[in-house]
Amino acid sequence: MNTAIFGGTFDPVHNGHIRLLRTVLQAVEVENAFIIPDRIPPHKQALGLSSGQDRLEMLRLAAAGLDRVTVSDWELEREGKSYSYYTVKHFRELYPEGELYFIMGSDMLLSFDKWYKAEELMKLCTPLCITRSAADTDACREKARQYPSAVFVEAEPFEVSSTQIRRLAAEGRYDELEPLVDPKVLGYIIEKKLYISKD
Ligand code: ATP
Repeated sequence: MNTAIFGGTFDPVHNGHIRLLRTVLQAVEVENAFIIPDRIPPHKQALGLSSGQDRLEMLRLAAAGLDRVTVSDWELEREGKSYSYYTVKHFRELYPEGELYFIMGSDMLLSFDKWYKAEELMKLCTPLCITRSAADTDACREKARQYPSAVFVEAEPFEVSSTQIRRLAAEGRYDELEPLVDPKVLGYIIEKKLYISKD
């Protein structure tokens, strides 16, 4: 029984995240996939980032139609910094059988060496990566050679970031967000006035 976990800040979740998830779930056989938003330190929330509750809610809206996918509040419920190592260890203990895929965009694979306990992390899971931008495809293929256990799924990049979404929302450019986020997530952003400066 294979499991996949997909961590990130998801502030907010966008179509790049969902597309990545759909692509990898088509590429590998997985019984359970978990999306796990990380904990944002309170001082960052003061800078206009959303609460864990809002990010969780938007993820639930965006993932509602995805088969086998659960949104997990495991990192949000833990104190302190969210290190992937602890999350992976926890899910490995919960699901000791089969592969444990750790889903990430190519930018994450490229910085993998610098992660907390990267080597131990690598032993606990199988990194599963897709191209985030056309510019890093070659670098990513090269990196995947360095980590022979990593699975690299080639897919046409969908270049969008949460930063871009927050910027557009802050300027009230909601029509430009339509192709980039789930309609229910967009409704939530508008209703809750997320990313608009409260000063
Ligand atoms: P921010 O702009 O706030 O830094 P982000 O868009 O990079 O956010 P994260 O929540 O930090 O989103 O990303 C979570 C995971 O999703 C990471 O593994 C990242 O590489 C991947 N990811 C994000 N956007 C894309 C995309 N457009 N295509 C493929 N992977 C993506």
